[in-house]
Amino acid sequence: MSPNTRKKMSGITSVTVYCGSANGADPRYPDLAHRLGIAIAKRGWRTVYGGGNVGLMGKVATAARDNGGKVLGVMPHFLRDLEGVLDGIENRYTDNMHQRKQALLDEADGLIVLPGGIGTLEEAVETLSWAKLSLHRKPMAFLSENNYWAPFFTLVDHMIGGGFLPESFRQLMADTSSPEAALDALHQRAIILD
Ligand code: AMP
Repeated sequence: MSPNTRKKMSGITSVTVYCGSANGADPRYPDLAHRLGIAIAKRGWRTVYGGGNVGLMGKVATAARDNGGKVLGVMPHFLRDLEGVLDGIENRYTDNMHQRKQALLDEADGLIVLPGGIGTLEEAVETLSWAKLSLHRKPMAFLSENNYWAPFFTLVDHMIGGGFLPESFRQLMADTSSPEAALDALHQRAIILD
């Protein structure tokens, strides 16, 4: 746990986006990522993401960069060699995936989860697990089209019903369907959690 993970909230200026390294089967997903990148840049906030130019990750970062937003990509060395990096942004390199995930959380005031696969799910679940343990108080919003994350919300409700999670856990996860709603949710929750 780095000291930054415990940093106190004081409003949002930097948003980490977890999302797929593929574009997904529905063209609404890359469109959503593109619109999110624009929306973050228009608020004057920084976009932090996993680096590179693949899938939804490339879409959100490219849109933020092209609309005047600051962008930080955090990538382990082994992926840099495989995938290359995006030009015109700040790129940071880590020795391994653990350091990358730590940096993605440390550099965030709030987090957004777009549609994605196992890697996205892992990042989201680790961040939620650490919030449950009170290791950080950073707000989080799931942002999807086509109810992409609905099965995950159903699983969380199942855990609550089964007595393994408190009801209050659902408050850690805003469920949104537009970039503006997701960013507003981070802003409002940052004030409540501060
Ligand atoms: P996935 O949802 O499995 O595509 O994984 C995407 C998430 O995991 C991103 O937020 C990245 O931080 C990380 N990740 C997994 N695979 C890759 C990849 N091939 N290139 C870059 N990042 C990846």
